[in-house]
Amino acid sequence: MKNKKNKPQVSIKSLPRLRPSMRREAIHPADYNTYHMPYACEDCSHFASQTTTCTLGLNPAPHLREIQKKNYELSGQMALCRFQEID
Ligand code: SF4
Repeated sequence: MKNKKNKPQVSIKSLPRLRPSMRREAIHPADYNTYHMPYACEDCSHFASQTTTCTLGLNPAPHLREIQKKNYELSGQMALCRFQEID
């Protein structure tokens, strides 16, 4: 479809996302304050703390403790990693 100036009309809203956005989960404040939940890369067996990397090759940036705490304080939600393992 072309408009009056013969330029193609592209609707940005109709284009699919290349990657789905990260799903964040709401955590009840009482649970957050009562339980010691492993929610950060620093709690995970796959985290290499010296290089701040994930041994599975995932991006640890959204799951680092400092970022998780900041996001939780702002929104009450955290981006929990589905591959987290604790010993
Ligand atoms: S598996 Fe997930 S939680 Fe564990 S280090 Fe990698 S990105 Fe972080």
